Amino acid sequence: MIARFFCGVFLVALALVSCARAAEPAAKKIEFAIAVHGGAGIEPDALSPDGRRARTRALGQALDVGRKILADGGAALDAVEQTIRLLEDDPLFNAGRGAVFNAAGGHELDATIMDGRTREGGGVAAVTTVKNPISLARLVMTETKHVLLIGHGAEQFADEMRDKRQIERVPNSYFSTDVRREQWRRKVEEEKAARGNKRASGAATMGTVGCVALDKQGNLAAGTSTGGLVNKRWGRVGDSAILGAGTYADNHSCAVSCTGTGELFIRNAVGFHIGALMAFKGMSLDEAVRQVIDEVLPDDSGGLIAVDAQGNISMRFNTEGMARAAADSRGRVEIMLGK
Ligand code: ASP
Repeated sequence: MIARFFCGVFLVALALVSCARAAEPAAKKIEFAIAVHGGAGIEPDALSPDGRRARTRALGQALDVGRKILADGGAALDAVEQTIRLLEDDPLFNAGRGAVFNAAGGHELDATIMDGRTREGGGVAAVTTVKNPISLARLVMTETKHVLLIGHGAEQFADEMRDKRQIERVPNSYFSTDVRREQWRRKVEEEKAARGNKRASGAATMGTVGCVALDKQGNLAAGTSTGGLVNKRWGRVGDSAILGAGTYADNHSCAVSCTGTGELFIRNAVGFHIGALMAFKGMSLDEAVRQVIDEVLPDDSGGLIAVDAQGNISMRFNTEGMARAAADSRGRVEIMLGK
């Protein structure tokens, strides 16, 4: 009798709980999402308050550009390209103006963009006079049958594309800033002191930019642009020019943009690796990102931003900091530099 009474109470309670659940509004679907990074080499504690404010403001402005395109129903690919162009024009970042110096005292820039809808992509490496390498990378994707053009070949392609779209040319000195020249001088001294140890390259030399986006049509895109590593050999190409390493996008898994010691990201095929963990092992975006950042890459090698087809965003790094920002259609807005 008592048992029957308690059983009845339990069933009534259960029914009430499920009614309450059914009445809860289902979490609204994420219609669009975007994340931006400004490099994993950042050491927030070493920056002045002004330095932190300037980076936060720049990331916020870039995020806004992409967010607006997506909110208006624009394509993820356009959001990625336009967001990165803005960061390339900002001397604070190691991409476009403000790119680091290479060992020859000049600048060689790498960039890639990838369309998750078609898995088409384009890249340029070691370009020296293209103001916005990300736009040239997009033209490699849409106007050639190739995926990567380098050096003189890429410059010549830029000549041909002059009338096509926003391909502005500048002298190589346009990319130079005093801050980067001083950083290069210090790096040369440091490497001399390390007696040419070819692996003595620290995370503090980074500052690449990247963007990943999901649009209202359900398409993913990713892009990355960089001046590479300070005092790199001329002719050196990093992960930011390599699809599947520094940049990757596939509507079936995720879009990824990386920053860090490019050689490690190439050797570990980081962008594709994350997509593969999701596609073949059924991991969530964040599980896959965690696995690669914590277990595949060595400490202090860099970080990445990623978004999946449901609008989940993951931003992780194994350095001191990574300048990063994220927004989505549900009102998420965050901008962070440190842990
Ligand atoms: N990954 C870039 C490279 O190795 C550098 C960076 O992220 O700052 O070229």
